Amino acid sequence: MDKKQRKPLTRRLIQVYTALLYNAYLKGFAEGQIYTGPLKSVCVPGLNCYSCPGAISACPLGSLQNAVSASADRPAFYVAGLIIMFGMFLGRVVCGFLCPFGLIQELLHKIPSPKIKKNNITRKLSWCKYVILAVFVIAIPAFYAVRRLPLPAFCKFICPAGTLEGAVMLLIHPANSDLREMTGGLFWWKFTVMILILTACVFVFRAFCRFLCPLGALYSLFAKIALLGVRVDLPKCTDCGACVKYCPVDIRKVGDRECVQCGNCIDVCPEKAISFKAGKLVLRGPDINPAGGEEHT
Ligand code: SF4
Ligand code: SF4
Repeated sequence: MDKKQRKPLTRRLIQVYTALLYNAYLKGFAEGQIYTGPLKSVCVPGLNCYSCPGAISACPLGSLQNAVSASADRPAFYVAGLIIMFGMFLGRVVCGFLCPFGLIQELLHKIPSPKIKKNNITRKLSWCKYVILAVFVIAIPAFYAVRRLPLPAFCKFICPAGTLEGAVMLLIHPANSDLREMTGGLFWWKFTVMILILTACVFVFRAFCRFLCPLGALYSLFAKIALLGVRVDLPKCTDCGACVKYCPVDIRKVGDRECVQCGNCIDVCPEKAISFKAGKLVLRGPDINPAGGEEHT
């Protein structure tokens, strides 16, 4: 399909509106301060740093690490329940539609450059995010929780969204000269990690989501049972493989744990077997026009 003939990108608009909604505390950007009101005790479904000056609520991943860090005194039922609820209703639709850092990665991938397509190595790397989930989000915070030392290890040592949306946004504000004086080795470590990840995203589609994001790893556990998602009508499917070939991430089949539920493959299927569903209700079916989805460039 000619690029000019493509319909307006509804998904892109939802991503942009979501990022704006998550970060609607404009006063925070103006004053270089973070919002600390009552909404901050609630999590949004996507990765969005608590310390972003505009953030109106908490990040589920940061909240989970803090809850695990405090689990010696109180069980992490609230955050775990919230993430399970997001997973059961939305699954990785959160990744495709409701994650500001997913949007940033997709925009970076539009920068003209050679692109590295999925291959056997990227498929193997896609397992790394489960290791990061187990080690940095669960094991290290739990280990230190026993010693009453809170250590949200993923936020502290890795999270590029936290560095970009939180640390950098606060540090560049003129009112925060005292914060700039306090930056040390840990900040520069995280800044380097962020630059490496953002650079990788220029060449590799959603490199952070696919290889590193523990929140995507968590939501992927709900791929088979989530209410919302991209589904294949099996009686119509001829197993031609066009969808898997077209998809830029490391899927084995549409809607599996690696699928970020973008829906871009819907218009690629020659049998019109793919649709976006909520339970049995079809929310978006294939175009009547000839096949051709959004390009991943
Ligand atoms: S399988 Fe389809 S919906 Fe899933 S990530 Fe690939 S293109 Fe997007
Ligand atoms: S493109 Fe359509 S027919 Fe071909 S394998 Fe995918 S779902 Fe089945």
